[in-house]
Amino acid sequence: MPEPTTPFVLSKIGGSALIFSPNTLLSATRQKKEKLGVALVGLGYYSTDLLAPALQQTKNCYLAGIVTGTPEKAEAWKQKYNIPDKNIYNYETFDSIKDNPDIDIVYVVLPNSMHAEYTIRAAKAGKHVICEKPMALTVEDCDKMIAACKQAGKSLSIGYRLHFEPYNLEMVRLGTKKIYGDIKKITAGFGFLIGDPTQWRLKKAMAGGGPMQDLGIYCVQGICYTTGNEPIAVTAQEGPKTIADKFSEVEQSLKWQFEMPGGIIAEGEASYGHALNFLKAEAGKGTFELSPAFNYGGMKGKIGESPMNFQNVNQQAKQMDGIALSIQNKQTSIVPGELGKRDVKIVAAIYEAMGTGKKTTIK
Ligand code: NAD
Repeated sequence: MPEPTTPFVLSKIGGSALIFSPNTLLSATRQKKEKLGVALVGLGYYSTDLLAPALQQTKNCYLAGIVTGTPEKAEAWKQKYNIPDKNIYNYETFDSIKDNPDIDIVYVVLPNSMHAEYTIRAAKAGKHVICEKPMALTVEDCDKMIAACKQAGKSLSIGYRLHFEPYNLEMVRLGTKKIYGDIKKITAGFGFLIGDPTQWRLKKAMAGGGPMQDLGIYCVQGICYTTGNEPIAVTAQEGPKTIADKFSEVEQSLKWQFEMPGGIIAEGEASYGHALNFLKAEAGKGTFELSPAFNYGGMKGKIGESPMNFQNVNQQAKQMDGIALSIQNKQTSIVPGELGKRDVKIVAAIYEAMGTGKKTTIK
């Protein structure tokens, strides 16, 4: 089965449609620098295990620099990836990145609470920004990040890798083109059993919440891009805390129900207590689903009982190449800050609904 090649509505943000056109993206002529230089900020798990290896495969960008507070990591990365000393920064020297023409894009891969500060500092340093999900802890911070990048005339993208992943793009195509008719019901779940009880993901001030912030956001995205619509209102319920010592600050799990345009039933679940990984749409003339839906690889999908058969891709390489190409060609990112802000707004409404036990309108 080929990857989708015709344009389709990828997202709606505040009622306006974001059109994804794979052909345009892939065939666009490159201009200026052949490869844009990326500096990774924060050399934790995601940078080390996924992004740096992916940057060895990218065509439109490369690993040009790093920002780390740990001198030993700086030395190890310098040796492993042949990074010149002049492209290695710590959090104190970070702002002087503005004088470094090797760095075109700053990729913020820090704990969630630090996304806003480093995105704004990167924009002020005159760099394009990719910021990991969730974009920020508040809508107000999202606004500041978007404004800073606009003011600097720089692009802001969110690290939404599944917008570049063939199985998820097929869900978008099937759903938004109504190949099996109108979607009547859509469900999504993402969860795993979290380990180390001391990690920042379990600290409210750093993570902004629990699995909803980390994993539930993928379900929100899946529901929105598959239906091509945004929720109007939400109800939500926190799950029981069954595991000791880990969830004093954040939820262990939660479920939510969206009110969607057209009366589509849309339900999600996020959990740090058990495994979940699916996105399932039930349309008038058939079902289509992914499980796993949100992994880095090994995606599986089916339409009715027939398997989907796409190549598994390096999602991070596709994502960074797609974003770099949009910058080179002065096109709007398909994962812009406005999309990140939309999701932060929806997640905030889910938490509000969970807290009050009442239906919350998403404004
Ligand atoms: P991590 O804990 O492994 O790494 C975080 C890095 O930030 C570490 O290198 C740490 O040293 C550094 N750091 C700097 N200041 C810090 C501070 N005050 N407290 C704690 N750490 C500090 O986390 P991660 O899994 O790499 O996640 C980083 C970001 O990437 C998060 O926003 C997460 O949501 C996102 N992420 C995205 C994906 C994806 O698939 N898109 C996957 C994993 C993580």
